[in-house]
Amino acid sequence: MEYQPTSVPRKKVIFGALQLLSFFLSNDLSARRVRDIMKHMRWRIPQEDPMMLLLPQPKEWKNLQDVADYARACIEVCGPPGWDVVWDRAVKRLGCCMFNRRILSFSRFFVQTYLDKDQELIRRTVLHELAHALAWEKYRERGHGPAWHRACCALGIADERSVCKCDDFAPPERQKKPTYALCHAITGEVYRYYYRKPNYSAYRLRLSYIPGQRAQTLGKLKLIDLREQESQRDSSDANSKQTQ
Ligand SMILES: [Zn+2]
Repeated sequence: MEYQPTSVPRKKVIFGALQLLSFFLSNDLSARRVRDIMKHMRWRIPQEDPMMLLLPQPKEWKNLQDVADYARACIEVCGPPGWDVVWDRAVKRLGCCMFNRRILSFSRFFVQTYLDKDQELIRRTVLHELAHALAWEKYRERGHGPAWHRACCALGIADERSVCKCDDFAPPERQKKPTYALCHAITGEVYRYYYRKPNYSAYRLRLSYIPGQRAQTLGKLKLIDLREQESQRDSSDANSKQTQ
């Protein structure tokens, strides 16, 4: 199978033409609408030959090296030549495809966490990124467009989505701590945590309540700064140590 990049970035031409058309026609045909149209123009990308039978059979993986070997074997069998696999320290995404460097990069933390939990998710992530590489080499397509979807079908993961929701796999030292908490002014019960300061004025707080607990919480909610609380606790600890 040869991976020759097409000379004209076809998708860009069509997208541009449709955007121009939308400009001339009406305000109704917005850029988002054009994108939707593009999504349904999958017939423009021809069907890929099925490649799932060529893929190596996944074995029980025991460490990162096994996963890297599997990914490299997949690239060798059906991927474009010249691509490699590396590990990164991402905590928010599972893997990524670096088109310019020809690299498939996977989160070390994700694979370490999911090796015992769900190896199928790791396998799907490897194939997801491989589909990106295929779509890029053949059609110069970034993102989750029709060429990527075709490649996914050929790799046997036709129902693959662009984003995958999974449990947090960040190691404890890299887990983000919430900075604010919404709690009951009297009982101190915490209802919600925030990572950024929420837009709550004193007036808005007075009118807010927790759904289902209106009588108990209306006008009794309080927003506390957790970092301030922590620093106060630290300083009081230091004081108590000094007095001892
Ligand atoms: Zn993707």
